[in-house]
Amino acid sequence: MKLHTKIAIGLVGGAVVGGGANALFPEAAWVDFVSDNIMFPVGQVFLRMLFMTVVPIVFTSIALGVAGIGDMKTLGRLGGRTMGYFALSTLIAATIGLTLVNTIRPGGGLEPETRDELMAQFSSQGEGLAAGGPPDFGVSTFVNIVPRNPVAAAADMDMLALIFFSLIFGAALTMIPAEKAKPVIEVLDGIGDAIIKIIDMAMGLAPYGVFGLIFVITSQFGWSILGSLSMYVVVVILGLLIHATVGISALVKIFARMSPVEFWKAVTAPIITAFSTSSSMATLPTSISTAEKELDVQPKVAGFVLPLGATMNMNGTSLFEGVTVLFLAQVFGVDLNMGQQIVVVVLAVLTAIGAAGVPGGSLPLMMLVMATVGVPPEGIAIVLGVDRILDMSRTTLNVCGDISASVYIDRIDREMEGLPPREGGHAPSVGAQ
Ligand code: ASP
Repeated sequence: MKLHTKIAIGLVGGAVVGGGANALFPEAAWVDFVSDNIMFPVGQVFLRMLFMTVVPIVFTSIALGVAGIGDMKTLGRLGGRTMGYFALSTLIAATIGLTLVNTIRPGGGLEPETRDELMAQFSSQGEGLAAGGPPDFGVSTFVNIVPRNPVAAAADMDMLALIFFSLIFGAALTMIPAEKAKPVIEVLDGIGDAIIKIIDMAMGLAPYGVFGLIFVITSQFGWSILGSLSMYVVVVILGLLIHATVGISALVKIFARMSPVEFWKAVTAPIITAFSTSSSMATLPTSISTAEKELDVQPKVAGFVLPLGATMNMNGTSLFEGVTVLFLAQVFGVDLNMGQQIVVVVLAVLTAIGAAGVPGGSLPLMMLVMATVGVPPEGIAIVLGVDRILDMSRTTLNVCGDISASVYIDRIDREMEGLPPREGGHAPSVGAQ
């Protein structure tokens, strides 16, 4: 049986068994026991196996990617296109979200009593999010991209800073004499291959890990909340589906000149990983190996585009933020005019860039957007009960958006290098540079 099939069985099995336990034995102590002592550790071991590869793979793949691209002019062109694609796809996503939430108006139907109940139930979680004070998002955000200490940046999983150091390191390798750079590149290449092997091992655990992760969520989920927030949840998920089937598919067709069907078929493993981990960062290793192995993206391109994407390109998150801010504005009866809604779109795009690729990474920043347009930030408590399900869904789109960018940049790079077009799905990887 193919690994993908096994992982899919783990996902569905975890949901059925966990959801079943929740429905048949609500609040049973043994369900909690199984969840805490079997499912949780199995899920966490899988997650940690993936997470432990993130720092080394970001460093080696970006440094090798930049060194492989070679000259800084090409790097600038590819980098510019990468950022342009990120901005465009994120903007399209936020716009889809805003259009839907204005048309369907899910916030109009939420009873004030339900609103107050939800606020009361989740206010402590909301306060927890706000406890760190408003997130720092301004000039210093940009200054902090340059780390004082790359080791500390890596230890803190400060991704933008680690990426910055890796980019500069890769560029420096192209500027020192080739005989000095060569052994370093060979070592990095070897480390990169070893890390990919670790990811393969981690993915071998995926069917069990995914089962565990999904069991923990579904066995403890308060399904009844889904009822009162159903219209909101439907709008977010509908928006994500529209962006996937129409938005990303069109971008893949137009920019990558690739059949969207072929694209969607190839990305099953990252979809399932993103859905079960709710983390772009944890999915990054799987995205890199899928882009290379299933989509024939050159390693130097995958290594350059995907870590940037996991950190900066969050289509699903910007769509979710747009919908949520507007939904809560509707719930609180705050009327946002056209200008304010444009501010929401712009901020949704910017904060999606700033959000960390971890579960719930965008929530503190979204509170900032709410405060900016006059929606009470503590109102976030209303949606916290359903956030996990939405986080799983938006992260999936975030990751697919990143992979679509890598296919596009791969096409551009092949054209610039005068290489033949990519082989199509399931071609062997092009090999390390
Ligand atoms: N969990 C998302 C991700 O990792 C970020 C978020 O929207 O909270 O991509």
